[in-house]
Amino acid sequence: MRYIEPHGHMVSLVTDDYLDMATAGCQAVCEPAFWAGFDRSSADGFHDYFCQLTEHEPKRAARFGLPHFCWLCINPKESEDIALADDVLALIPKFLDRPTVLGIGEIGLNKNSRNEVKVLEKHVDLAAREQQLILVHTPHLEDKLKGTRLILDVLQSDSRIRPERCIIDHVEEHTVRRVLDAGFWAGMTLYPESKCTSARAVDIVEMYGAERVWMNSACDWGVSVPLAVPYAALEMRRRGHSAEAVDRLIYQNPIRFLSQCPKFKLPA
Ligand SMILES: [Zn+2]
Repeated sequence: MRYIEPHGHMVSLVTDDYLDMATAGCQAVCEPAFWAGFDRSSADGFHDYFCQLTEHEPKRAARFGLPHFCWLCINPKESEDIALADDVLALIPKFLDRPTVLGIGEIGLNKNSRNEVKVLEKHVDLAAREQQLILVHTPHLEDKLKGTRLILDVLQSDSRIRPERCIIDHVEEHTVRRVLDAGFWAGMTLYPESKCTSARAVDIVEMYGAERVWMNSACDWGVSVPLAVPYAALEMRRRGHSAEAVDRLIYQNPIRFLSQCPKFKLPA
């Protein structure tokens, strides 16, 4: 089996996780900028985090033969503070040329507040100006449907944004159709407690197809499973999906989306 982990918060993981992922067939990891589990006190904290994502973490991953890529932004949760968000947004352009930065993410909404929407619009504008791919986080549970609608409105009302260059992550049964019908890519996050289980993710693939879909573990500092993608692949095989269909979903699809950024390259 071979796969790409297109959304893993590797800074929260231990080296044993890298070893397990490489052993399970992982070929590359991509790490969106995220909430650290606590609010940073200034833009300097983000500067250091962006250095960690672009300098330190690729070296750590390389020890296990894994190319490491990342996405940059201020996450929706800390975007409530617009002044802080502006300071962080001003930092991002000078990191965008770094060789492993794939785009702007994971932006989106957390509580669907007005300030979050404003900062989302600023990120979308930055991505459009800098011709960057976009990775979007959708809110949890009861806020998800409303948040997904708001996010799609923001993206669709900017004529510079091409939906095939945006992935809307953490889709579930009630949001996936809206995302795919609008021409965006959809990410399914495999979580043991919230978001999608393997079985639900495979149900969604069976219902809506796998043309513009990827699966990720989003493994982070909370309860999460770094090997969630290969576990879901086993669930697909158990249900009779072919090895080719599994490979398309967990390996070729992420490559197809991510290769829209010329910096995403796997070693020959
Ligand atoms: Zn994430």
